Amino acid sequence: MASALGAGFPLTDVAAAEAFGSLRKSPRMPVLFVGHGSPMNAIGDNAYRRSWQALGAEFGAKYPAPQLILCISAHWLTRGGWYLTGMARPKTIHDFGGFPQELFDQQYPAPGAPQAAADIGRALHQPFSGAAVALDESEWGFDHGTWSILKPMFPKAVTPVLQLSMDYSRSPTEHYQLGRQLKALRERGVLIVGSGNIVHNLRATRRDSSPNQAYDWAIEFDRLVAAQIEKGQLAALPDFKSLGAVATQAHPTHDHYLPLLYAAGAVEAGESPRFFNADFQSASISMRSVVWA
Ligand code: ZN
Repeated sequence: MASALGAGFPLTDVAAAEAFGSLRKSPRMPVLFVGHGSPMNAIGDNAYRRSWQALGAEFGAKYPAPQLILCISAHWLTRGGWYLTGMARPKTIHDFGGFPQELFDQQYPAPGAPQAAADIGRALHQPFSGAAVALDESEWGFDHGTWSILKPMFPKAVTPVLQLSMDYSRSPTEHYQLGRQLKALRERGVLIVGSGNIVHNLRATRRDSSPNQAYDWAIEFDRLVAAQIEKGQLAALPDFKSLGAVATQAHPTHDHYLPLLYAAGAVEAGESPRFFNADFQSASISMRSVVWA
């Protein structure tokens, strides 16, 4: 089984020290999957944003403060390869339309980390090709899957942030395999954050619905995935299509599901999940989020 995951992973301590020379060894960081929902959650005074603020305050207290944040957002899809942001000053991307000016005025000026990006990119092996992960020097930055949650969590924006793209031409299993390679980074002060939604069907949204109202298929898919997470059946998560018709209803496209596979891949055996925001936005978006530690 291990041989299918690419050579050299999980890294030994020595190999990790060489590969991640720019990152100091640290107590193991937790792993997060955050349901981001509407971009307006970044600025609205709602329970989601407040939960992100509270979670951020746990770093440097309950959990170690991260040296680096590596975010895998539903909104950076590439084809023909995975990419890591390699610029020193990533731009804030407003990748949405039809929202108030206040949302377009938001900036998240956290620095990048070119050296760490180069080290991490070299250490990772892309599933299928085995190639290292290339750096993106100019194209991307922080899309709203990243900044809408990190801004409330880490408002000082002093901790460097990298984004890892998702090669949307590859299978869910391959995304999970790349996630497994991220485990070693948790011992190097890296906070891994998957940002998507466990249920995400924008065609079915109902703006007037309350957080405890959702479609039956949305509730069912959310509960099935939650049960797998709770039982530690993380290796089953890439095979979500086998959950039946509810999987297609929950994800007409599966870009918002994939970030869960990176976070789940980075979980060590025996770690316990803690759920938060286990409700719905607009009836068809699950906000369920998970901390593994
Ligand atoms: Zn989104």
